Formats: sequence, structure tokens, C-alpha cells
Amino acid sequence: MKEKRFKTRSVAGTLAMGERVAEMLLPAPKLIVLRGDLGSGKTTLVKGVAAALGAAEASDVTSPTFTLVHEYVGPKVRLYHLDLYRLETGRELLTLGLEEMAEQPDALVLVEWGEKFPGIVGRADGEITIEHAGGDERLFVVRVEG
Ligand code: ADP
Ligand code: MG
Repeated sequence: MKEKRFKTRSVAGTLAMGERVAEMLLPAPKLIVLRGDLGSGKTTLVKGVAAALGAAEASDVTSPTFTLVHEYVGPKVRLYHLDLYRLETGRELLTLGLEEMAEQPDALVLVEWGEKFPGIVGRADGEITIEHAGGDERLFVVRVEG
């Protein structure tokens, strides 16, 4: 189990930290749960990770709030960014095809609100938890198996 803690004090800091987090998430395939309140910085972190992996420009990564999943393809990974805040049932989760995404050898699946579904937590290769630490400060704890 690899574990690292990071603290950032701005959006720019979180975007830049994506580089160090991305290193911890390689090699693919991996499924990672992102835990933290609304506005804690989960989507911002995904922007930083996507940019670090060359899968997308940070500004092209937007929250998959309504579509539930966005896909970005980079040289080393196929990045799937999910936000399951609006997903209510295990049946809907099956329809989404999460397992098929995660099975691909180059998949990096980052799931906001994945902790709502025990099956996802049980299958995950790691988790990133984010806490507000007052103002613009955020604490990130990255835990990855292996
Ligand atoms: P989530 O996906 O967890 O709901 P977002 O990444 O969409 O969160 O939003 C984070 C919000 O917090 C944004 O409004 C951003 O401007 C603000 N923010 C303030 N400080 C930070 C920081 N250090 N890192 C990330 N976001 C921050
Ligand atoms: Mg989000």
C-alpha cells in the first residue's frame, strides 16, 4: 500500500499536484474512488491528473455531473472520470458499464461518489480522500494498493 499526503492552498496548487498523484496511479489499469464533500476539489484534482497524463487539457475536463462519465485518451491511459452523485441504484450502475471500463488494460477509472456503492469500494485499487482545511486549504490523502 502506497500512501501519501498532500496539502494545497489554491486551485493552481491542486492542478500542479496532479502530476505527483498521477505517478502514484500508474501503471494502469486502476479504479480509484475520490472521496470528499461537494466543492472539496475532486474534479479539480482530476483536471490535474488528466493534464499530467497527457489525456486532456485541464480546461477541457469538466464535471460529468449529468452524463455520469467522461472519457479522455492519453498515451499511457484511457482515463474515465465518473461522478455518481446523481446515480441512485445498483441497476443504474450496471447500465453504466463500469466493469467493462475498468477491465481495459489501459484504464484509469476515477470515480467521484463511488463510496455510495459497496461493490465499487470493494473492487477499488485505492482511494483519494479530500478534506477542507479552512479557506482554500485542502488536504489530500492518496492510498493505492501495490
Ligand atoms: P468537487 O468535484 O469535489 O465537488 P470541484 O473540484 O468541482 O469539487 O470544486 C472545488 C471548488 O473549491 C472550486 O470552486 C474551487 O475554486 C475551490 N477551491 C478552493 N481552494 C481549492 C484548492 N486548494 N483545491 C481545489 N479547489 C479549491
Ligand atoms: Mg466534482
